[in-house]
Amino acid sequence: MMDGIAGRIAERIRHGGPVSVAAFMTEAMFDPREGYYATKNPIGAGEDFITAPSVSQMFGELMGLWCAQVWMDMGQPGSFQLVELGPGTGQMMSDIVRAGRAVSGFMQAAQIHLIEASAALKMVQGRTLTPMGVEIGWLNRIEDIPPGPAIIVGNEFLDCLPMRQAVKQNGQWHERMIALNEAGDGFRFAVGPQLGTEADLVPERLRGAPDGTLAELRPGDQQVVDVLAQRFSDHPGHALFVDYGPALSEAGDTFQAIRQHQKCDPLEAPGTADLTARVDFEQLGRFAKAAGLDVAGPATQGDWLNALGLEVRAAALIRQAPEQKSRIARQVMRLSDPDEMGALFKVMSLSTPGLPKPPGFADHG
Ligand code: SAH
Repeated sequence: MMDGIAGRIAERIRHGGPVSVAAFMTEAMFDPREGYYATKNPIGAGEDFITAPSVSQMFGELMGLWCAQVWMDMGQPGSFQLVELGPGTGQMMSDIVRAGRAVSGFMQAAQIHLIEASAALKMVQGRTLTPMGVEIGWLNRIEDIPPGPAIIVGNEFLDCLPMRQAVKQNGQWHERMIALNEAGDGFRFAVGPQLGTEADLVPERLRGAPDGTLAELRPGDQQVVDVLAQRFSDHPGHALFVDYGPALSEAGDTFQAIRQHQKCDPLEAPGTADLTARVDFEQLGRFAKAAGLDVAGPATQGDWLNALGLEVRAAALIRQAPEQKSRIARQVMRLSDPDEMGALFKVMSLSTPGLPKPPGFADHG
């Protein structure tokens, strides 16, 4: 017998037939009562997964300096919207604020907004940010950001937007669905209806692929790009995304579940593990250029952090607390070494056309 979220998805399948991977992800992650993000804070060493801001304060501090630099390059507007998408525990924003205070006028000009779907995480964010003594507001959608210049950042936000999968059969793309297994006590993948116009979302490099190929479609990325393109044509701004984006050769099926730092079966016990899929930065950049945005990157997280001065920041922290030297050195490795997060994670910015290119990308200048 399946109960909780699994039971509700099973009910839905019994009545309406198999569901898309996106529908399964949405229920598992955002069911308001029992969804994974709706009920708990999964981020941290004792929890399910660790993210860059929880590895080290240096990540958010360099992000804060990046924000301050693009603000200066926009002509230091006296008021602007500083927005974080999917702030998790609020750690990164608190580090952004602390580092941003070193830049004269920057924090005074910032109206801070957090866009967060989870009620449980909003509470954690409030607790993290209250001691910073800044005014913070929460919004539900990017569309709700007030007018004016904007700097928008998101770490590991895009990877949790629901993803669809498609399989090629007899020369046509079909949606990959999730059905009940024969015993009715678990889930299995199944091939569903042929894609209609959504076949346009199949990444270009896979269009001519042979039967049996699996493609991942990210309608959420396309939607985010469309909203940003509209906003950035009305008001100047930059959006910066950092996410899990292994090289294309490693692509294929990237639907995965993580519980207590271990990979597990994404179809088992929905709502109890983090479900993600790799972000396709090539496709994101393509969507963004097609929508008329300026694109910088993807840079690897390691290169981006090094270009922003990771070593210099680490040296400064070590001078303040020499006894922390080996811990700080480990954090630098963790964030930037190609064998750790440095190469798997990528950074890309999408901007109003014609603004100076943001720092951290190789050809900045
Ligand atoms: N940026 C944080 C947290 C990453 S986890 C960090 O790096 O530690 C993903 C975050 O995005 C969580 O806060 C989750 O609740 C939020 N989130 C996911 N999808 C969302 C959506 N559609 N709208 C708003 N927030 C979302």
